[in-house]
Amino acid sequence: MRFADIKGNHSVIAALRAMADGGRVPHAMLLYENARSGGLALACAFAQYLNCQNPQNGDSCGECPSCRQMQNLAHPDVHFVFPLNSGGEVGGDHPVSEQGMGVFRKLFLQDPYFTEQDLYLELGIEQKSGNISVHEARNIMSKLVYSSVSGGYKFIIMFLPERMNMQAANTLLKAVEEPPAKTIFLFVTQNPEDVMTTIVSRCQGLRVLPFDRSLLVPPPPSEEIAQLWKDMLAAIIQRNLLSAIESAEAVAALGSREKQKSFCQYASEQLRKILLVGRGLSDIAYLDGEDLTMEAGVCSSRFCSRAISNIDKAAMLISRNVAAKLVFTDLVNRLYISLQ
Ligand SMILES: [Zn+2]
Repeated sequence: MRFADIKGNHSVIAALRAMADGGRVPHAMLLYENARSGGLALACAFAQYLNCQNPQNGDSCGECPSCRQMQNLAHPDVHFVFPLNSGGEVGGDHPVSEQGMGVFRKLFLQDPYFTEQDLYLELGIEQKSGNISVHEARNIMSKLVYSSVSGGYKFIIMFLPERMNMQAANTLLKAVEEPPAKTIFLFVTQNPEDVMTTIVSRCQGLRVLPFDRSLLVPPPPSEEIAQLWKDMLAAIIQRNLLSAIESAEAVAALGSREKQKSFCQYASEQLRKILLVGRGLSDIAYLDGEDLTMEAGVCSSRFCSRAISNIDKAAMLISRNVAAKLVFTDLVNRLYISLQ
């Protein structure tokens, strides 16, 4: 990933570039982002820039062997760490990120802006949060013993350090404070208040802002999609299960997986708006003239959050080619039950 591939965040890129060009790269950095703001993408672009053999115009070349390895998340000196647990794809008693790297790589290459939930779904551990264990920390320490393979910088890029427990943080502490030469820790957090203070205090912080919303918001949905969601939610609110199931069947009949995914994206965006209106935060709900007061009166925050996570799961199942009728019928059933 090159800086040029990053959406928005021009000032953060400028700051990272200045550090690299000026030879003032901190040995530990904490990038604080909101979900889907691109913290991980920035960390990768920064690592790629620092190890590029032929940087040009303040960006990595994207073509040298180091850039190519980095673009495939297969650079021998860049180690990724993320939360896991003993269930799902990786399994085993003491799983470490290295074992889940295939899943992580696939997800990142598909969408570098993936969320924690996306990761858990891919790992098959969505029922239980992941964590970064002491076994993981020991594995990281073992990577630091050897000097870099390529002669460039060595990176530990940790996604969601807030999932690291105290034992793991203590194991890493010394290394984060005084890493071996040319070793850089990049932590990408969404909840800096939950990261062990001992780690935070040893890092230089950098705020990654949600990029320009116009880049984030998908193109406006077709009238058809907007109407289908309106019908589905109305049926659920009116406690009309039959009509809700009919609306699910209509979504399943949309004809393409892409349309079904845009339906999910739209539904989830609408529920976020309802949630914000319900919390009195209409100002940041980007309503654009829409009135969601009635929906916000009926749908609790709890319902909205659950519904969003069910819809995200439905979208994931659709991407995996699960039968659409099954996915959407199951979805309306879940929404119907959780509104009670
Ligand atoms: Zn390069």
